Amino acid sequence: ATPTSIMVGTGRGAELGVLFRKGEALQLLKDAKVVAVDKTGTLTEGRPTLTDLEVANGFQRQNVLSRIAAVEAKSEHPIARAIVEAADNEGIAIPDITDFESITGFGVKAHVNGELIEVGADRYMRKLGLKVDVFSATAERLGNEGKTPLYAAIDGRLAAIVAVADPIKETTPDAIAALHNLGLKVAMITGDNRRTAQAIARQLGIDEVIAEVLPEGKVEAVRKLKAAHGQLAFVGDGINDAPALAEADVGLAVGTGTDIAIEAADVVLMSGNLMGVPTAIALSRATIGNIR
Ligand code: ADP
Ligand code: MG
Repeated sequence: ATPTSIMVGTGRGAELGVLFRKGEALQLLKDAKVVAVDKTGTLTEGRPTLTDLEVANGFQRQNVLSRIAAVEAKSEHPIARAIVEAADNEGIAIPDITDFESITGFGVKAHVNGELIEVGADRYMRKLGLKVDVFSATAERLGNEGKTPLYAAIDGRLAAIVAVADPIKETTPDAIAALHNLGLKVAMITGDNRRTAQAIARQLGIDEVIAEVLPEGKVEAVRKLKAAHGQLAFVGDGINDAPALAEADVGLAVGTGTDIAIEAADVVLMSGNLMGVPTAIALSRATIGNIR
């Protein structure tokens, strides 16, 4: 492609809300075979709400909710906000905590009035040596509904299963259909529960799911998909997406995402949703494809 065609394509992209930070991205995108997408905040709104809370025998709902909300009040994860909001909405007082700790990709813990409260994914409970079998039927149902099951332990005893649900962005189904129409495969990479991720993927017609990925595992997932499919574009919004954005042939950041993701990306989607991806690929094909 000539410098002039790159300039014209970049200008057209800007009009369409697709900011090419590197001219190279406009040249490469036409050859993309697979689009790998982060789930939370990219496919979904990134604003989950609490949908379920079931306590184990001997525990009381309000008591458990106040304790887990107290711990989550110190966390920045979207899941945390959902739990704190639920407690607020129910008018439940949130006690003070000490010794807060966040275990990335697993969960959070803290002391509340001398009790140790731990909240997180099933793998966090397993790490603590706790069995979550009593809730396995509930967890299965929640996962199949596309909800994320979490667990709470109080002083080392399993106290509750909690679920949050994050609505899919209105534009996501059309964007995936458009990518399929352009002949691309769509893959999801997420730290979320496998069953939950698969339910959402099924609903959206996503071709491949890599779930329960630890933050540092996203790069490896990108490499794996690249080896299997060829040229890869990755779309993400979070701090933990930055390495994957850099690793991809083309990294596209959702414009509403974190600064760190935007800085690591080659392309910024000003619309704040996935629709910019098929737009960018079509533009690359139109600009570069026509000129050679
Ligand atoms: P993602 O951004 O895809 O959700 P993370 O690595 O941030 O990936 O989190 C992976 C999983 O770890 C979450 O789905 C959740 O089960 C658990 N987790 C992380 N942070 C928290 C938290 N503050 N409270 C409860 N669970 C958490
Ligand atoms: Mg995200």
